Amino acid sequence: MPPETLDVLVIGAGISGLSAAWHLQTHCPDRRFAVLEARPTLGGTWSLFRYPGFRSDSDMYTLGFHFEPWRERSAIARGPTILQYLRETARGHGLERHIRYGVRVRSANWNPRAAHWDVQAVRTTAEGAEEGVTFHCSFLFVCGGYYRYDRGFQPAFEDMASFRGLHVHAQQWPEGLDCRGQRVVVIGSGATAATLVPALAGQGAQVVLLQRTPSYYFIVPGLDRIALLLRRLLPARWAYALTRRKNVALAAFLFRRSRSRPEKVRSFLLKQVAKALPPGYDLEPNFTPPYGPWEQRLCLVPDADLFQALSKGQAEVVTDRIERFTAEGLRLASGRELQADVIVSATGLELQMLGGMQLSVDGVPVEPGRLVSYKGVMYGGVPNLAATFGYVAASWTLKADLTSQYVCRVLNHLRDTGTRIATPGLPPDGVALKPFTDFSSGYFQRAMHLLPRQGAEGPWKLFDRYADDRRRLLEEPVDDDVLVFGAAPAAAPKAELAQAA
Ligand SMILES: Cc1cc2nc3c(=O)[nH]c(=O)nc-3n(C[C@H](O)[C@H](O)[C@H](O)COP(=O)(O)OP(=O)(O)OC[C@H]3O[C@@H](n4cnc5c(N)ncnc54)[C@H](O)[C@@H]3O)c2cc1C
Repeated sequence: MPPETLDVLVIGAGISGLSAAWHLQTHCPDRRFAVLEARPTLGGTWSLFRYPGFRSDSDMYTLGFHFEPWRERSAIARGPTILQYLRETARGHGLERHIRYGVRVRSANWNPRAAHWDVQAVRTTAEGAEEGVTFHCSFLFVCGGYYRYDRGFQPAFEDMASFRGLHVHAQQWPEGLDCRGQRVVVIGSGATAATLVPALAGQGAQVVLLQRTPSYYFIVPGLDRIALLLRRLLPARWAYALTRRKNVALAAFLFRRSRSRPEKVRSFLLKQVAKALPPGYDLEPNFTPPYGPWEQRLCLVPDADLFQALSKGQAEVVTDRIERFTAEGLRLASGRELQADVIVSATGLELQMLGGMQLSVDGVPVEPGRLVSYKGVMYGGVPNLAATFGYVAASWTLKADLTSQYVCRVLNHLRDTGTRIATPGLPPDGVALKPFTDFSSGYFQRAMHLLPRQGAEGPWKLFDRYADDRRRLLEEPVDDDVLVFGAAPAAAPKAELAQAA
């Protein structure tokens, strides 16, 4: 089959890909584009996870798109409700017609002579057969998320095979698993574990949350009363925009304060938890993290549901190390044995960049871990490539929307100037390179070598604040002397990439 030629190819139809499609359709109506999605459905993360209680751990007024108000009452929403919002947004804005389902991109090579990406993909037909397909596109916009879908992270514990009960990973929750009346041990800390525990307890399971290290919890009301009041007073779009602003500002304040006055924020968070725990419950050792707030993702607990499960005696928290699995459950380093019918690994994700595809420039392989970010959107030395990576300490969609808007600005600048190629330069020698993030979460630390690096300053530095990115991506000129626009291939990508390595 001859290659199909398009102006822009978007990879992935999750939140980022849908944001990309809306912005391309709205701001670049003259460009032909398609969204290639490996799975038979849209929604990405929000259609993949099925564990009980699966929900957002940031508020929906900022996890929602700027162009489509969140209309449900709850500020923290369940996975199926979020998926429904994404499906309705796609349908309502005519985005689905751009999506090609069942097409997994394997590789993309930049051809400097033709000034296009040569994209190799595999299409799965309705009958399950696979066939190779090739696309040519001027611009590649990767919205493939940041982790593997086929498996979650599973630490190797001793004697795992000896357990006679059911061992599942939260990322691969078996359809129809009923935990009523079962003894369930959830291994892990963080948002997934904190969500699973009250949900399983609510189903009638007796749950133990087994963690190596405690997390910070931030107890929030499930309903945002100010948002609901604004909705009564104002048209839906105004109310949504105001609530979004309010929540961006509140989240930014908490994050900044966590970095500038960690002891104050720690004391505030621990006091909240102490109040929600049953009287006499000691915060040590289960609720006193050995690191500062927002050095890892903060777990939102709507309406204190986790603590209610603890108060009712339906759940228990244990801070210990697993020595090994046994036939009946787990043996811990302290010598304690935990009996279990079901063990759930809520042990996190396996990170993966650029949709797992093999990227090359003129045949030279590009390792994501050797790339240097440019404005958190493009990469030094790589022409006509953008990728969405959302915020870690705020809703992903805030950055996804900004990224899509910026890509449209670059595309329109190419059109307006009659150029075809936009290549970011690399930081000059004096600019130090730093890791992608200073978050100490296990999944980042395990995968730091896979993540692009950032520069200590200039457009290579990554921002964690929406207001900074908004200014940089929407207001500053795209033609900044670092992003080089050219009709012919911009200065020797091969040499530049070699320098980056
Ligand atoms: C359990 C969990 C809870 C989360 N909760 C929140 C939250 O509350 N708030 C928040 O801000 N963030 C949260 N996140 C982060 C979350 O991933 C983002 O909110 C957001 O959904 C990411 O959207 P995305 O489209 O970039 O990636 P994804 O949702 O991962 O979607 C990527 C899509 O790209 C497709 N794809 C990937 N590679 C290819 C390829 N090579 N070819 C074709 N298609 C491909 C995938 O099939 C998928 O559909 C959570 C993440 C997890 C895992």
